Amino acid sequence: MAALQIIKQWFRRPLTCEDVNQFIIDYLEGTIPPRTRTRFEAHLENCDCCGAYFEQYLQTVDWVREDGSAQIEPPEELIEVTLHFLREHYSENR
Ligand SMILES: [Zn+2]
Repeated sequence: MAALQIIKQWFRRPLTCEDVNQFIIDYLEGTIPPRTRTRFEAHLENCDCCGAYFEQYLQTVDWVREDGSAQIEPPEELIEVTLHFLREHYSENR
């Protein structure tokens, strides 16, 4: 398959929970491409799992900022919990 077709397909398919997880930092930093941003927001609206995660993530970011640090990376612990959560979510859907 030509690379262009793969890219076109990629842009057409809905984002997976894993994609959303990866795009969160880009989204918050505003570096996410507009088309991806639209799909990102659409996924959040339709996926309780990612919606809840995103809320939690925003709270964590707020907490980090209140702490006086500009760091936007989530704590290791939150990443672990989230990955575990997503893995369980995936296996339920299989
Ligand atoms: Zn999701």
